[in-house]
Amino acid sequence: MADSIKYWHVTYNDIHNLIRKATPKIAAEFNPDLLIAIGGGGFFPARVMRTFLREETGNKTLQIQAIGLSLYEPVDGSTAEQLGNEVIRTQWLGAEARKMLVGKHNLIVDEVDDTRKTLHYALSELQKDVETELLEYPESEREALRAKTQFAIFVVHNKLKPKLAELPSGTQYFSGEDVEDVWLNYPWEATDIEGHDRRASGDKNN
Ligand code: 5GP
Repeated sequence: MADSIKYWHVTYNDIHNLIRKATPKIAAEFNPDLLIAIGGGGFFPARVMRTFLREETGNKTLQIQAIGLSLYEPVDGSTAEQLGNEVIRTQWLGAEARKMLVGKHNLIVDEVDDTRKTLHYALSELQKDVETELLEYPESEREALRAKTQFAIFVVHNKLKPKLAELPSGTQYFSGEDVEDVWLNYPWEATDIEGHDRRASGDKNN
């Protein structure tokens, strides 16, 4: 990628292929029981990853649950100071889905890890949910269930830059591709998909 490029257009096929390439390692090293998509950018990647993971692991019932988090996008009631600083929950797991986390391998899926604030927030809140759910179990079972409950991260793109938040040590982390600190234009944000794809092919030739 040339230094001068500040925007990078990514196609659906690029994303599909990055996920296809990443899946065998994720299946072998983490083997998720559940995918948790961070919306909106994680929805399409999670859906594609489910296809490849079901194929790779034979787990034909692998499900996706969704959470909605917003760091940059204005949501009703957000102030100018919150925009870009604070992660705001727009959607969260329901009671049944929270129970599903316990004792499972849960893979959090998003399109991009930029400052890492969103992933850090998602992981810490999900871990709080697990602690709350564990209270429903006899004390004697909690430690073993806590140890069995694992979270890992998959992002299509990881930007190579200083991060503003750290993930707990030992968190398994998978990325489709490590990229420079450029702004990525995703196909689901495009209104003219043919134009988007043309620009993507222009970016690749530069
Ligand atoms: P964070 O800074 O918390 O890692 O990322 C927050 C969110 O900002 C991401 O989930 C994503 O929605 C958005 N974002 C960050 N970098 C990019 C980018 O390069 N392109 C697009 N389209 N969104 C981005």
